[in-house]
This record gives sequence, C-alpha cells and structure tokens, in this order.
Amino acid sequence: MNKKPSGYLQNVQRESIIKLGEALRKRAISSVELTQLFLERIRQYDEYLNSFITVSEELALAQARQADRLFNDHKINTPPLTGIPIAHKDLFCTAGVRTTCGSKMLGNFVSPYDATIVEKLGRAGTVMLGKTNMDEFAMGSSNENSHYGPAKNPWCPKAVPGGSSGGSAVAVAAALTPVATGTDTGGSIRQPAAFCGLTGIKPTYGRVSRYGLVAFASSLDQAGVLSKSAEDAAALLQAMSGFDDKDSTSAEEPVADYSNLLDRSISGLIVGIPDEYFSAGVSPKTAASVEEAIRHLEKAGAKTKRVNLPTSSLAVSTYYIIAPAECSSNLARYDGVRYGYRATSPRDLEDMYVRSRSEGFGPEVKRRIMIGTYVLSAGYYDAYYLKAQKIRRLISEDFQRVFREVDVIAGPTTPEPAFELGTKVNDPVSMYLSDVFTTAINLAGLPAISLPVGFDGKLPIGMQLIGNHFSESTLLSTAHQFQLSTDWHCQYSSEFE
Ligand code: GLN
Repeated sequence: MNKKPSGYLQNVQRESIIKLGEALRKRAISSVELTQLFLERIRQYDEYLNSFITVSEELALAQARQADRLFNDHKINTPPLTGIPIAHKDLFCTAGVRTTCGSKMLGNFVSPYDATIVEKLGRAGTVMLGKTNMDEFAMGSSNENSHYGPAKNPWCPKAVPGGSSGGSAVAVAAALTPVATGTDTGGSIRQPAAFCGLTGIKPTYGRVSRYGLVAFASSLDQAGVLSKSAEDAAALLQAMSGFDDKDSTSAEEPVADYSNLLDRSISGLIVGIPDEYFSAGVSPKTAASVEEAIRHLEKAGAKTKRVNLPTSSLAVSTYYIIAPAECSSNLARYDGVRYGYRATSPRDLEDMYVRSRSEGFGPEVKRRIMIGTYVLSAGYYDAYYLKAQKIRRLISEDFQRVFREVDVIAGPTTPEPAFELGTKVNDPVSMYLSDVFTTAINLAGLPAISLPVGFDGKLPIGMQLIGNHFSESTLLSTAHQFQLSTDWHCQYSSEFE
C-alpha cells in the first residue's frame, strides 16, 4: 500500500495537502483510498512510533465516503480541505471519540461535543484519522510525560520528538497523516516541529478559538498547526481561525487570506536578530544553521537588524510561575465526581478526592499543581505570582519596542536539537530550560512559526520567526518564500518511507 502510484501523485503520503486536494478534485485518488493509505501506515508503523492514542478508523472512513459523495455531487464547488486526512492532538474535544489529554485521569472521557476547531475543520471537509499522543495535560517538552508512553522521533529512535504536541509532530513527520493540529502554551507546537523537521505555527493569542481545548494555562494556550510546509499551514490555519462567541478571549479581528498572501515578496522585510538568541547555551551547529537561513532570507531581499530583548532571560522563570498557577486552578475540576478517573472503593468523600487525584495524575502534573498552589497562596502571591505578572508585562513591552523597528524576529526555536529519551525527565529544571526561546512568545501573546533549516547529524534544526500580533500572514509568507528556494522541509527519515 506504500507509495501508492496514482499516475498523478509521485509519493502520495509525502504530498502537500494542496497537492492532495488537487488530486482529489481531479479524481486521481478518492478520499477513501487516501484515508485507507494513511490508516494502513498507522497500522504498519505506529506500534513503534506511538504517535496516536486513539485511531478513529470507522469515523475516518465514514467522513471520507462523505467527502467522495461531495465530489460526486458538486464536482469542484467543495471546500478546499474536503477529503484531506488529519489528526488532532488528544486535548481537543471530539464528540464520540475519547479525549484523554495524555492522562489516566481522562482515560475514559468521551466529550459530548466537538471543540470549535474540530467542528470547523470537520465542516471544511477534513477526515479525522484519530487523536495524537501528548505530554499529560500538555505539560512537557519531550512527550515522556504521557500516561500512554512516549512517542518516538522518526529521525532517531533514541531522541525525543519534543512536546507536548509530540504525537502530532511524529505522525506528520513519519507520514501517518498529511497534517495535524497541536496546541502551544509555552512552545508545544514549535519545539516538536523543530525536533521533527516540520513547520509549526502558533498563532496570536485569540486568533483561534480555545472552546473545547482542554485547558492547561488559559492565558497562554493557543491552537495551531504542525505541517510539512508553510503552504499547508496556511491552508489549515485559514480554516481554523476566526472569532468564536463560545470563547470570550477569541479575537474579532478579520482573518487574512493566508494562502493567497503566501506569494508576497519578502524584499524589504526587516528581520530583527536578538543578540540574546545566539548567546552561550545555543549549540554551535544550531546557531550556524539559523545564521545561514537568515543569510538566505537576506539574499531574497530581506534586511537584517541587530536588536536586544533584555528580558529574554526572565521568560522561563516567569512562565513556570504563571503556567502552573493557572493549571492548578484549571485542574481543580478533576475531582473524581463529575467525570474522569475515580478511585475505587473510597472510604469517604475526602478519600475519594485525594485518591482520585493522586492516582489519576502523573508526577509532572502533580508537581505543577503544587507549584501553582504555592505561588497563589496568600503568603506568596505578591512575591511570586504578582511579580511574574509584572515581568510578563515587561517582556511584552520589550517585544513591542523591537517591533517598532523590525517586521519579524528570527532565532533558533530551541538551543539544541532533540535530546535523548530519559536524559532530562528526572531533571525538571533542565527540561524547562529547553523552552528558553519559546515561552516569552506565549507570555506576550504573539504569533511565531518554526521551520526546518538544517541538520545536526541526523537531527533536524528549527528556526523560529516571531511576528507582532495578527501578523500570521507575514510569518507564513516569509517561511514560504524560504521554502520555495530550499529543501530542508522536504527531507524525511528514510526508515518510514
Ligand atoms: N514545555 C512547556 C511546558 O512544559 C510548554 C508546554 C506547552 O506549550 N503546552 O509547559
């Protein structure tokens, strides 16, 4: 079933969703055939890769048949994503298909409704293959905090795929799905994209509805895309974005036509390069690949400017106060009463609360709940939480000052490529430090994209481009222009051919 020849498509599983859409429209392949091909690849490889928690085969085939019917009925007037297979991170609620959030706590949870983005992408005609593996409640940078075991990086069996949207990244990188959704609270789309050689975009806070996205840290959480290219990301983000009256923080800002704006030239674009993003701690190979990519942007007409973001060094500690504070409040709802895991034969009500939470949550989630409860407690609120909120404001102001002079900011997505499984999982602080370039962006509510720009040995390297609020189309077109004349984004691990 691999490399199914269709006459029109060379290597079906590696094609862009744009190409797949054209092939579906031309009837070079049906949506059922396409869906079966990816389901077959999941059967073949996912026992090893562990990128899916749930595969929704029956639903996928029913949606694919529906897409094929639409093609038969309307010929060309079908939405652009009709018939395209997709995987959703397992923290988007999906009616009738369980949503575990990578946790034992929600191991049996079946949502009665769809998250807004699931509904929107369903209406756009996509075919849901299943739900992808993730760090428990999106807390983690390696996928090792999943109750369902870690997903594996397709580039190297010893390396982590990144997290928390690691399953989505692995599934796209190994071509078990053409595209996937993810969420990013402090880097969870961009970091796994960087580790797996993908394009990953985290839009502006409020650009995409959070309704039905199981909350981790509500002022930071944002849904986005993991894809092979900026072109695919633009098409998917287009269908996900927009105001939603079910999410009070959703923005009323009109959505730009991301796909049509991809061809904009980057001539004259001013790229800011913060000294702080190339300081000690960044691996020499990572710095060299990102610098080379920036030179490539210059050749395409962009101008560069050195800038400073002096609050960069405060982002990780600020994030690791605010995110746990919000998570300790959000996760209070899992009490064994309403839904989710309940301890067996509790002695009394208190015993049920205590044991349901003790048995249902994993160690990292418990650590964050404890930190969050601590920093919000009466005696420490001013010293930690309030102070972190003030620094959050300074971080945001730092970016605004720089965006008065530049259009985008460029730097490495992570200080080094994917690290080895097991090397940081017992050392939370070193794990947290892998988020050094991503957390500030969430604290400031900005959009950012990670794109592949090289390799360190077998492992991909990612460059992050950060934009001002609602500048997704600039980030996507800059990444697209880069990808038109480079082929880092076309590389894949030959083991999963
Ligand atoms: N790695 C970060 C954390 O552990 C970010 C997670 C995320 O973006 N969901 O919190």
